Amino acid sequence: MTAPSVQQIPGVYHRKIGDIIVTAISDGCLDGTLDVMRNVDLDKARQILTDAFRPARRTSVNTFLIHAKGRTAIIDTGSGNYMQPSAGFVQRSLAGAGIDAKSIDTVLLTHMHPDHSAGLVDMSNGQLLFPNAELVMHENELPHWFDDGEMAKADERSAKLFFQAGREQVAPYKSRTRLFRSGEVFPGVTAVPSHGHTPGHTAYLVESGKDQLMIWGDTVHVPEVQTAFPEAGMAFDTDLAAAAASRKRMFDRVATDGILIAGMHLHFPAFSRLARRGNAYALYPEAWVHAL
Ligand SMILES: [Zn+2]
Repeated sequence: MTAPSVQQIPGVYHRKIGDIIVTAISDGCLDGTLDVMRNVDLDKARQILTDAFRPARRTSVNTFLIHAKGRTAIIDTGSGNYMQPSAGFVQRSLAGAGIDAKSIDTVLLTHMHPDHSAGLVDMSNGQLLFPNAELVMHENELPHWFDDGEMAKADERSAKLFFQAGREQVAPYKSRTRLFRSGEVFPGVTAVPSHGHTPGHTAYLVESGKDQLMIWGDTVHVPEVQTAFPEAGMAFDTDLAAAAASRKRMFDRVATDGILIAGMHLHFPAFSRLARRGNAYALYPEAWVHAL
């Protein structure tokens, strides 16, 4: 008797937004503790996860393809081989979706943290993993991560993982990098600056016809805890207070307007809605469908 295969199929999920097809592409997940949370009672945070049958912090890492007007963009690139062996599967998931990375003409970054920008270059051979893509991000992002003064203020781990990794991953795209302040950055995709987590952290609003999808980047890292306590942030927020203000503004907007959301750290495939519950919020994942 042969043992059953336990290899997961690649993480791919398609959702139609008007005429645009958005495809969630899983990079995998990252495990950690709650000690990196800030501005929250850690006992209460732990209890929320325990009550949700999530004894530890297991963070999905998601990226999203946008197929619009005959063009293809990917929002974020996953973590490459910088984080944990449980992540770094974007290229495998793309292959599983039948997508050739060479056909992707635009890489939009929400920000330059290693779980988002470390899938740009294979450092073992210097090869660009999106060889035909323009790299697009908010204009505040590059100056911060290339600022030697800011890097000197970071501890050794952060200097290496955030500054050094970011620099070596984006530098090879220098001649094809486009920076924006706001506005439409790809057909049907509008930048929604949402600073604080990093200086240029940006959400992207996908719109077609009467459909909207807010891909809110790193508005949350621990969804169960931060929807219950919107002021709760992370040790690696560049500006905790600004990140909390952006989070609350984003929560208010998508809950008030009933906008479909997706996020880089919502549980895969991430399509959800947010409802206001007093001073807190509740997240409702959308049911999986098998035909668009
Ligand atoms: Zn992240």
